[in-house]
Amino acid sequence: MTQSSAVPGQRNRIRRHPERGAYGRSEAYATLDAGQIGHVGFVVDGQPFVIPMLYARQGDSVLLHGNVASRLLRHLATGAPCCISVTHMDGWVLARSHFNHSANYRSVVVFGTARSIDDPERKAIALLHLVEALLPGRGADTRPADPQELAGTSLLEVEISECSVKSRSGPPKDHPDDLSWPTWAGVVPLTLSAGTPIPAPDLLPGVALPEYLQRARTDPE
Ligand SMILES: Cc1cc2nc3c(=O)[nH]c(=O)nc-3n(C[C@H](O)[C@H](O)[C@H](O)COP(=O)(O)OP(=O)(O)OC[C@H]3O[C@@H](n4cnc5c(N)ncnc54)[C@H](O)[C@@H]3O)c2cc1C
Repeated sequence: MTQSSAVPGQRNRIRRHPERGAYGRSEAYATLDAGQIGHVGFVVDGQPFVIPMLYARQGDSVLLHGNVASRLLRHLATGAPCCISVTHMDGWVLARSHFNHSANYRSVVVFGTARSIDDPERKAIALLHLVEALLPGRGADTRPADPQELAGTSLLEVEISECSVKSRSGPPKDHPDDLSWPTWAGVVPLTLSAGTPIPAPDLLPGVALPEYLQRARTDPE
């Protein structure tokens, strides 16, 4: 693993609430690995775009995939700089004043440039990694991509050059003068959880729910 300096540069320095920031790879990778959707930012002809995508971290890179015709993927494959942001909303922070309402969260911003993965064997491995990142155990249970599917799919690895993590936790921070305000205050935790699986209408009869899916229902993180 490439070591990153824990000292931020101009680009990734958190200015507001710097005490909530971290710049180490381990914090950044833990926050990336806890998510599945990243917002990918890039600029084409001076116009910024921010596009949500599934992703998976692999080593010091973030894997992205999509149709070969994707504007985003074609643009990034030229080596254009990009920025990927992932946020976990952990709770509503309900204060006594409008001003002090907030959110508990973990978020990560990474900067990097993409390389296209063209070798079909590496593409297939990267696709497997993306499926496993979505649901551990699923890769071995499903058909690998065939040559035609691989040819129609772009796979990019965005090598992470800089990163920053910002997180907030804990109760609201009300002004002392507001503590006598007679309303409920505190935190409402929020989690993303898997619901009850809905079988495909054309599921083969007798196919049972796999064990890894039963686990996902009770252990969403
Ligand atoms: C769920 C959520 C809700 C938020 N709501 C608000 C809001 O309503 N109003 C508000 O002002 N702020 C909000 N924030 C914080 C916001 O993301 C920014 O951190 C802040 O507005 C600007 O910080 P800055 O001026 O230090 O960063 P900037 O100077 O804009 O950014 C400099 C660098 O700091 C790093 N950075 C900045 N923010 C983050 C982050 N959140 N996570 C990781 N790296 C970061 C990046 O590397 C960035 O390039 C929210 C954050 C989250 C995750």
